[in-house]
Parts: sequence; structure tokens; C-alpha cells
Amino acid sequence: MLNIVKRPSRAAYDYIIVGSGSAGSTVAGRLSEDKSKKILLIEAGASDRNIFIQMPAGLGIPLMKDRYNWKFFAEKDDTSESTEGPYTPRGKVLGGSSSVNGMNWVRGNKADYDSWRDFGLSSWSYAHCLPYFKRSENYQQGDSAYRGKNGPTKIIKAEASNPLFQAFIQAANQYGLALNQDHNGASQTGVHKTQRNVADGIRHSASQAYLYDQPDKPNLDILMETRCTAIEFSGADAVKVHLTRRGEHFSAEVAGELIVAAGAIQSPQLLMLAGIGDTNMLADAGISVRQHMPGVGANLQDHPAWCFDYGASNPRDSLASKLSYLGRLKIGMEWLLGKRGLGISNHFEVGAFLCLTENQTIPELQMECIAMRGDFAPEGIKIEPGYQCFTSIQRPTSRGKVWIDNADPIKAPKFQFNYLNTDYDRDIAVAAIKATREIFQQRAWNGRLTTELSGVDQLASDSDIMQWAYEHVESNYHPCGTCRMGHDDLAVTDEAGKVHGFNNLRVIDAAIIPSIPTGNLNAITVMIAEKIADNILGLAPLEPEHLLRDQQQ
Ligand SMILES: Cc1cc2nc3c(=O)[nH]c(=O)nc-3n(C[C@H](O)[C@H](O)[C@H](O)COP(=O)(O)OP(=O)(O)OC[C@H]3O[C@@H](n4cnc5c(N)ncnc54)[C@H](O)[C@@H]3O)c2cc1C
Repeated sequence: MLNIVKRPSRAAYDYIIVGSGSAGSTVAGRLSEDKSKKILLIEAGASDRNIFIQMPAGLGIPLMKDRYNWKFFAEKDDTSESTEGPYTPRGKVLGGSSSVNGMNWVRGNKADYDSWRDFGLSSWSYAHCLPYFKRSENYQQGDSAYRGKNGPTKIIKAEASNPLFQAFIQAANQYGLALNQDHNGASQTGVHKTQRNVADGIRHSASQAYLYDQPDKPNLDILMETRCTAIEFSGADAVKVHLTRRGEHFSAEVAGELIVAAGAIQSPQLLMLAGIGDTNMLADAGISVRQHMPGVGANLQDHPAWCFDYGASNPRDSLASKLSYLGRLKIGMEWLLGKRGLGISNHFEVGAFLCLTENQTIPELQMECIAMRGDFAPEGIKIEPGYQCFTSIQRPTSRGKVWIDNADPIKAPKFQFNYLNTDYDRDIAVAAIKATREIFQQRAWNGRLTTELSGVDQLASDSDIMQWAYEHVESNYHPCGTCRMGHDDLAVTDEAGKVHGFNNLRVIDAAIIPSIPTGNLNAITVMIAEKIADNILGLAPLEPEHLLRDQQQ
């Protein structure tokens, strides 16, 4: 049972955590294992006890609701001719984005963390991260040199029995990609059946794994539907957070540390509102400067993505054929009564990681597929027979930013991704689109799909493909990097998430990622939180694991 409160129940807390997402729930769970510490977890959103959050196949439904989704829109990129910037959903609920995400469990590539080490973050090499990935997960099928068997988050592999998923695997083989049994193990490259954080048919979000599934924690108070609006300081110490809940204002006192875990868009906003940010930007927003820190909000990264849309020649091949009103009723009943059937799937059952350029060994492209055409727009879901493949480029070099232009904590911050702003990103985008087209032209499809519906198959020249890339680029929902770790002038935190220049203020979430890894960010953010939780508790870090077969690519 969680200890849900409507007001802080104590005069002061050893640790206050703002935001209960992938990082916040993980940190709260780990810190509260120390029974001598009193912890307050603050979440702007509501409870996650909703059938469509818990049922993996219901994933599109909470996203439609303002109650669970911040529904941000980025500012338009300078190159964009569209009327609005990319839609950027973010979880506004206990568990944060881990309660509304696609549940694909991907841990990134060994080289990602070794590049963080080479960037000066000596405690973030793959060898240092691996024991924390293993501590976070419970995956019974993998090689225990790489995979955790006893962690809080349960992972299962998809069956991918749909004929269109089978065709994708064969088509990828024909293109030259081998089937990889574990893309979170020794090697990342190849075509794979996806792994998802789903346990006993239920979404295994960070809140489920680290809060509900753990023994009762009387030392952890959870305040939901409560927004942190300001941080109060005494010199270099954060001493208080100002909160608002259902129109009432109150505060909570920090006796030990304040941990900002509001995600890559809102963690920098909270720092900026507290006067920590670029002097000029703060002046324009009418905020007096506490500390000039131009890195706050800079370095925004994401995986630019393109959706390839195909119709199904035989509509019965597509999952959409099972989603009629009666079909959905059947899925719902099977799930409710036995936690089985299509309800336990996150729909993304196959994917691939592949290299695009010569001599490259670290994947530059990720593909994630669903066996239907689903438009999960903020205003509603539209499902049609067909097949969709989300192709996203990994490790892009373009950088965007988050900023504010006023001092109102309730207003959404501004942000701009600046997708495809470098030659490297543009070249990789063209190569990624061509590679995706090629996989869908393999004989394994055997007439099962129509040509791509937005017309990408007809484009001949690289410049036409580039134009299509600009017109169709969207977010893969992985913003990060806006309060990055490091030791240089643009770094916001040290290697343990401590904000430079302050005694007891940390950022722990996807914002501290220095450079975007190869793959989705949930497992990675959980790992980051697992690792820093040990540092907060003063525990010795887990021993780095230098594998003999240390070849992950
Ligand atoms: C639709 C969608 C699909 C995705 N699919 C996948 C996937 O399949 N696999 C994967 O690995 N990743 C996926 N991701 C990405 C992944 O879920 C996120 O990168 C990750 O959850 C980020 O974790 P976080 O802790 O940084 O932030 P979040 O999990 O977003 O948590 C931030 C929390 O802070 C709260 N908050 C913000 N401001 C305040 C405030 N002022 N006061 C109080 N609370 C506040 C928010 O409400 C939120 O709960 C997806 C994301 C989305 C949105």
C-alpha cells in the first residue's frame, strides 16, 4: 500500500523528489529502503490506477487524455514549413512517462556509455552502468553476464506471431540483418522480437516496479496532483519547495537533499524559475538570476523519427482486423479475466537496429513496428488495417533547447528540437529512409503490403528524400540532455546529478544524459536513477563489470 497524502505529513523531509517518472519513482523506491530517511515524492499528475494504463494494449488511450498527458508541442524548427512544431507527449501521472510509454525495453549500446566516459564522465562507462542495468531488471531468458534476473522491473519477449511481424523478420534477413535473440545482451545489431516491461499481463512502469510491488514504505509520503511551482534557497542550499494542489498553496521543507526529476522538458524549467540558467534568457523572462548557468535548457536531443505507413493487401493480416468493437470487448474480457490475449501486448513486437555507413559497427538506425496503422494524435486514435514502421536515427548531432519567456510556473516551457540541422544528420536521415524502403521491398512481403502511403517509395533523388524527411519528421518521444552531466562550462550537474554550485540540489532524470544513446530512454533513465540512488545513500557503487566478451555493438 502506498502512503498517499494530501499535505506533507512531516515538518521536513530528508529527501524531496519532484516528479515520479522513470527516474523519480526509481529514486524514491531505492531511497526509501533506508528506513531512517523520510522522503516526499511529489507528482503533478494523478494516480496511475487506471485500466488503460495497466493494460499494455490500451497504451493509446491515456495519451488522449489531458489528465495523463502534458501534450506539449515544440516550437517549429526554423527549417519547418509546418504550422506547428512536433507533438511531444509526456506522462502527467504517477510513474510519469513510464506510465504512458510504449514499454519497449531497450538499454542502449555499450559504445554510448563508453562515449560518456570518453567525454570525461569516468564513472559512466558501460562497465559502470552494466551492474545497474542488471540490478534494475528481471529478464529470465537472457545470458546472466548481461541480464538481470532479480530486479524490480519484469521484462518479457514478444511472441511476434502475426504474419506481418514474421514477414518483417524475414525481410530484414533478406536485407542482410540476422535475427538477434537479445538486443539488450552481447550485441544490439540485427532484427529482433521486442522486449517489453510487462509483468503478469500488466504494464511494469517505474511506479509499479519500484513503488507498488515493493514492501510497504511508511517513510515515503506521496503527494499526487501537486505541482512544484518554486524552489526556495538559503545561499547554496535548497530549503523549501512551494507547492500547489487543487488551488491551495503550501510548502514542504528540505532537511537533506532536493531531487528534481521532472523530466527533460520540465526539470530545466524548474531550475530557470529558481533563477538558475542563462542570464539573458532569465532577464527576458523577468526572473532575477541566482546563478548564471547557460547549460540549463541547452543540449536538447531527441531521436528524429519517420513513420512509414503501408496498407495490408489482406486486411485480416493486420491487427486492426481484431480491433472492431466486439474484438476490443473480447480483448478486454480476456485481459480482465486472465491477463492473457492481445491485451498483454504493447503492439510493438518486432524491431531492428542497423548500421548505415561503411565501417560503422554501432547501429545508426532503429526500427519499431506495429501490425496496423494507428494514428495516436492528441485529439484521438484512428486505427486502420496495415503496417507501420517507425524509423529513427540514433545519436543525431543536432541540438535544440528549452527556455522560458515568463515567470509563470504553470505555463509550459518553450522548446525547439532543431532536427536535421547538421550535414551528418541529413546524410544519415537519407540513408535511413533508403534502408527502410529497401527492407519493405524484400520478397518476404510477397504482396502482403501496398506501397508506402505517403509516397516515399516514389522519391528518386536524395534531395527529394531530404525534402520528404523535413516534411514528415516527428519526435520519437525521447527528449533528453537539457541539464547534462559534465565538468565543463555548459555542464549543469556533476557525475552524480548534483547541480554545480549548490550543496543539496540534484537533477536525476533524462535531462542529465550527456548525449542521446542508441535506443529508447526508459530503461536507461531507470538505470541512471538506480546508480545515483546509491550515491545519495552513501553506498559504495556496484563493482564495474568488465566482460571478457565485452563486444556489445
Ligand atoms: C508516448 C511515449 C512513448 C514512449 N515509448 C517508450 C518506449 O516504448 N520505451 C522507452 O524506453 N521509452 C519510451 N518513451 C520515453 C520514456 O518513457 C521517457 O524517456 C522516460 O520515461 C523519461 O523519464 P523521466 O524520469 O526523465 O521523465 P518522466 O517519466 O516524464 O517523469 C517526469 C515526471 O515529473 C512530473 N512533473 C513535471 N513537472 C512537475 C512539477 N512542477 N511538479 C511535480 N511534478 C512534475 C511529470 O508529471 C512526470 O510524472 C516514451 C515516451 C512517451 C511520452
